[in-house]
Amino acid sequence: MDLSRYIRDVSDFPKPGILFKDITPLLADPAAFEAAVIQLADHYAAADVGAIAAAEARGFLFAAPVALRLRKPLVPLRKPGKLPYHTHSLKYDLEYGQTELHMHTDGVAPGTKVLMIDDVLATGGTMAAGCRLVERAGGVVVGCAFLIELGFLNGRAKLAGHDVFSLLMY
Ligand code: AMP
Repeated sequence: MDLSRYIRDVSDFPKPGILFKDITPLLADPAAFEAAVIQLADHYAAADVGAIAAAEARGFLFAAPVALRLRKPLVPLRKPGKLPYHTHSLKYDLEYGQTELHMHTDGVAPGTKVLMIDDVLATGGTMAAGCRLVERAGGVVVGCAFLIELGFLNGRAKLAGHDVFSLLMY
């Protein structure tokens, strides 16, 4: 199935000059959504993966069904003030200003092999921060998987040393 048919380009969102890759047409089509989840999960079916981690919010949309399909624990990485238990946290730079990701201190046991999932690889800042957070807890990142990679932004450079896989490349 050609998943690119289910990605809508929206110009100048959320600000002028950005071409936003809108995944809602894919989410609205169960066959296409399922195909994306199966393709992501199948890529790692034979890999040694102990857990799946993803940052809110759109990362959850793909990480949750992939975790179920691979029968692996799901570890949410969240913005400040959302996780109820003790957390590790990490500040990172966005295009404008800073933000922070949190993970429960017991989210990943030391030595756990973790597959990271997000919808879009843009500059790579979010995924790089997620990887560092998992590693801070002693996890070992075994892959970073995306539905969409914006190759022209070279987010892979920020993920150097990690295995990067994407279903759609722009
Ligand atoms: P980044 O940290 O730059 O790799 O991107 C952070 C998050 O912003 C990604 O996980 C996407 O969810 C979202 N994002 C960034 N750029 C785009 C874009 N052009 N279209 C859709 N989502 C984007």
